[in-house]
Amino acid sequence: MEIAIIVGLSGLCLWFAWRLYSLRRGIEELTGALTQDPPPPLRDVADVATQQRLLTLSTAALDTVTEATLLRDSERNRRDFLETLLNEIKDAIFILDANREIRFLNEAARQLFPSDQAYLERAFLEVCRDHRIYDTLELAEELGSKVSDKIVLRTQELERDRIKEINLLVEAEPLTFEGAGASGSGTWILLRNITSQLETEQIRRDFVANASHELRTPLSIINGYLETMDDADMNLNQAMIRRAVRTMRKHGKRISRIVEDMLTISKLENASNLLNFEPFDLRDSLDEIISQLMPLIEEHHAKVKVNANSDEALVLEGDRYYWDQIFFNLIENALKQNRSKGLRIEVKLSSEEGRYIIEIKDNGIGIPTADIPLIFKRFYRIQKHHAQNQVKGTGLGLSIVKRAVEAHSGTISVESQPGFETVFTISVPSSSLQFASRTAST
Ligand code: ADP
Repeated sequence: MEIAIIVGLSGLCLWFAWRLYSLRRGIEELTGALTQDPPPPLRDVADVATQQRLLTLSTAALDTVTEATLLRDSERNRRDFLETLLNEIKDAIFILDANREIRFLNEAARQLFPSDQAYLERAFLEVCRDHRIYDTLELAEELGSKVSDKIVLRTQELERDRIKEINLLVEAEPLTFEGAGASGSGTWILLRNITSQLETEQIRRDFVANASHELRTPLSIINGYLETMDDADMNLNQAMIRRAVRTMRKHGKRISRIVEDMLTISKLENASNLLNFEPFDLRDSLDEIISQLMPLIEEHHAKVKVNANSDEALVLEGDRYYWDQIFFNLIENALKQNRSKGLRIEVKLSSEEGRYIIEIKDNGIGIPTADIPLIFKRFYRIQKHHAQNQVKGTGLGLSIVKRAVEAHSGTISVESQPGFETVFTISVPSSSLQFASRTAST
């Protein structure tokens, strides 16, 4: 009897010990599972699944933790998405708290104000160091509404180690934000680089002013003559009338050339995709232009030579109309800018590394270094040249050449040693070029 009690009690003890042990293992495993990120499904927590008492607790705990993890992850994804979006924006954006400390900034803001220290929770003024931006911020806070200003900011260009000036639009507006543990008030600041926008506006203003100026002179000359001819008191003889008509025709031609050039530029700017791309031989275009310019070539006693490094036809898929203009403007420029004897013009055509290289070289008065960056601008003419020679022109020729070359995905550059050599070099991709057999035409 005693033995039976002892055996029974021992069995009971062993059973309790085993229950206690497996409960402990179950709790340990559950704790491990709950600290995993993300928590595993219940069926993977083997010891718990066998513990009926732990099962309810485990299911509830795991469900709660899984839900919290999912919520946190989706919140994190949403924040990452917003951050990526804000980093894609080219404008610099800052979000400040009520103490004017940085709570958020995007990539553009970091680039505008580079720093090797952490940005977040730093005073905004310490990062931007510009009182005008800070004044806009203060004013927006004072007024409780959006305030904007335009400033010129001098910044250090890291790669080139020099100071550059940029035009900035500064906008600031108070905001209140609410979210888990982040409610409060603050201000957002946006800084937009408007340098190129201002430049474009300036170019447009200059264009209208220059175009009106260029047209006004010939028009007032023509009007002057017409008034004289219309004056009943004026007794004009035939010779005087003929002279007046000749002058009016000359200025009429000038007006139509300016208008034609302006239309060409506007077509190239607005509809470069409307160009009429067809294969043609570059040399045909050159030959035709040279023969059109022959009277001017003879008048200048100039020599024009065309050289190509191959006997093959140089077939370009492009708009022949604009290539005729390119060659005409460049060769005519070389002729009309150089009235002295012994002028030599050489056109070199070659192909290299998938591109055509076209060089138009002359040995005339050349272009001063200071004027080189400006000559492709609309209406730009080198004053020194025209005072000396009274050279005809609109100042639009090179502007058309540049736009026409670019419309064919090419580039144009110029090098000049005044009095010795001036070379315009065009490089145009040969992807749309084919070679066809042909004998050299020059
Ligand atoms: P323009 O109608 O006056 O020729 P362009 O735009 O064709 O206008 O040229 C701009 C200016 O560049 C010219 O006025 C001229 O002073 C200068 N230029 C262009 N080509 C040459 C050249 N080959 N030699 C010297 N000066 C040149």
